[in-house]
Amino acid sequence: MQIRNYMEDMVSDALEELLVQKDDICKCQKCKLDMMVWALNRLPPKYAVSEKGRLFTKLEEEETQFKADVTRELTKAIVNINKNPRH
Ligand SMILES: [Zn+2]
Repeated sequence: MQIRNYMEDMVSDALEELLVQKDDICKCQKCKLDMMVWALNRLPPKYAVSEKGRLFTKLEEEETQFKADVTRELTKAIVNINKNPRH
């Protein structure tokens, strides 16, 4: 058993979805991690006990609720990191 911040999973998945639609944004590992960190520092952590890996089925309802916040912060993160990339 372990504790997971599943906001990390949500941000990771949402970032991939957002970047697919953007041709002019660097998608290297460093930039993607910087975008995730930027957004995660501005979103509340969501901890859950996990036996292994992800636990999506149980969290679908909450995920829908937070999706708008995640998308909003990630959109800002993409703009910010792209302006000042550290790769
Ligand atoms: Zn990059």
